Amino acid sequence: MSETPPHDTADVLVVGSGIAGCAVALQAAREDADVCLITKAERPADASTDWAQGGISTARGDPEALKRDVLAASDGTADPNAVDVLVREADAAVEDVLLETLGIGFDEREDGAFDYAREAAHSERRILHVDAATGRHVLRPFLNYLDDHDRIEVRQDTAALELVTHEGRVHGVLTDEEPTGNPIYAGATVLATGGIGALYPRSTNPDGATGDGISMAALAGADVADLEYVQFHPTAFDGEEPFLLSEALRGEGAVFRNGDGRRFMTEYHSDAELAPRDVVARAVATEREETGEVVLDVSPIAFDAEFPTIAESCREHGLEGAEIPVAPCEHFLCGGIDVDDRGRTSLEGLYAVGECARTGVHGANRLASTSLLEGLVWGLRAGEAAAGRKAKPRVVDATELRDSDPALPERFSAEKFTRLQRTMNDSLGLERDPDGIARASAVLRRLKGEVDAYTRTRTSRELYELRNACVTALLIARAAGENPESRGCHHLVREDAPTAEPEVPR
Ligand SMILES: Cc1cc2nc3c(=O)[nH]c(=O)nc-3n(C[C@H](O)[C@H](O)[C@H](O)COP(=O)(O)OP(=O)(O)OC[C@H]3O[C@@H](n4cnc5c(N)ncnc54)[C@H](O)[C@@H]3O)c2cc1C
Repeated sequence: MSETPPHDTADVLVVGSGIAGCAVALQAAREDADVCLITKAERPADASTDWAQGGISTARGDPEALKRDVLAASDGTADPNAVDVLVREADAAVEDVLLETLGIGFDEREDGAFDYAREAAHSERRILHVDAATGRHVLRPFLNYLDDHDRIEVRQDTAALELVTHEGRVHGVLTDEEPTGNPIYAGATVLATGGIGALYPRSTNPDGATGDGISMAALAGADVADLEYVQFHPTAFDGEEPFLLSEALRGEGAVFRNGDGRRFMTEYHSDAELAPRDVVARAVATEREETGEVVLDVSPIAFDAEFPTIAESCREHGLEGAEIPVAPCEHFLCGGIDVDDRGRTSLEGLYAVGECARTGVHGANRLASTSLLEGLVWGLRAGEAAAGRKAKPRVVDATELRDSDPALPERFSAEKFTRLQRTMNDSLGLERDPDGIARASAVLRRLKGEVDAYTRTRTSRELYELRNACVTALLIARAAGENPESRGCHHLVREDAPTAEPEVPR
């Protein structure tokens, strides 16, 4: 047996510091586990959670109504059992963690009641928010709370590079801490690594959303599912630096106009601007193509007063009037590492939560403001399950990463990322066709082969992020290629592609 390298141990190891990872850490510590949370983030803003705008959905005392909306938005594809878990536990989780533990001051009306907002495809006002900058008002207090917790160690700027596996079980991760590849062994390892925005040239996500967890889990043999369902948000600013214009704007009354100045959403869906996201995103793309541009007209709402943070972003981008040019933009991955109702993956000792996981809640298309909620609910459930296993960390022989060759020039990763993003945009965007998907798969396979050759003897975070992006992109292409049915976010433009009718009437 080789000499054991320096290592750390934890009962529960959490990878990622968004809402999902934080919720796991909190609950596992409540169950008396010693928790280590590592994150490659150097500041809260490196997690999508910090960027969340519109808010967090509650059930507002009516789980069945929320369930109907989640199922309808998913085009009838969400798993009803998973949705039951989400809607049943929504209000208690928000009350317990966000209100009682963290004391988040969600916006209130003058009478002191919560100012519940409405967003697209929600039949009711049930979304708690702080201005349209909810994420940072949730995540920063959450991280502060964990920092002060004596059972939780948070290590920033520490990336997981690989899972440590032994005889089919996961025992922790290799990190990019010195010495390179330093392992952390754990009784339970929980991936909470967020989304995949960096796979596309235009995304609302932070740059570090490179699909690390999905790739690491898949390479270790874990099941993944629903990866073809990449959600594009209909209203990102149509400029060099896309930023999100929350669905809450339409919830309050903002409308689209095309290049001819005409409202058009009523021609696409009976719910017009409040139709499910995939429908609206495709309508916006079509109208942009046919009439040159689409703007979001915010003149019907009190934009500056109700949405000061978004109004400020607009001013920073030189936008003065009430008409904001918009275009669809990659936003969220509905699928991911396949998990059960406690976040357990198909691999012993490995859990996944948040955007990197596929719980079944979103099916082919996610309902607005349910991602923070899913991260919170599944985070608490997975934290409890991971701590409850009482498996002690075991030091096993971990693969030693080789870092023997000189570092690659910075432009290496940047060039490969550009190729990957172009391929994803051209063939795995809002609309796809089988030939394009097949061509993209071939390009991505070659790209992954090139990158693999470098990772054999080099261990930089950038290179591993590129490797993870390649693996995740390939998995998305494979899932898209294997699904001949247009549904939700997976829309095939081939004339003979079958389109399913929604199973759940709105
Ligand atoms: C602009 C924007 C607005 C949004 N608005 C809303 C909204 O209003 N309501 C809503 O419900 N949802 C919203 N969403 C979606 C929602 O914010 C995300 O889906 C959700 O926050 C994901 O949480 P998470 O904990 O899974 O991941 P994240 O919050 O993305 O956190 C992932 C963490 O993992 C870390 N990480 C990644 N890889 C590694 C690695 N290899 N090693 C160590 N650490 C790693 C990252 O640094 C990060 O800390 C929005 C998203 C965006 C981008």
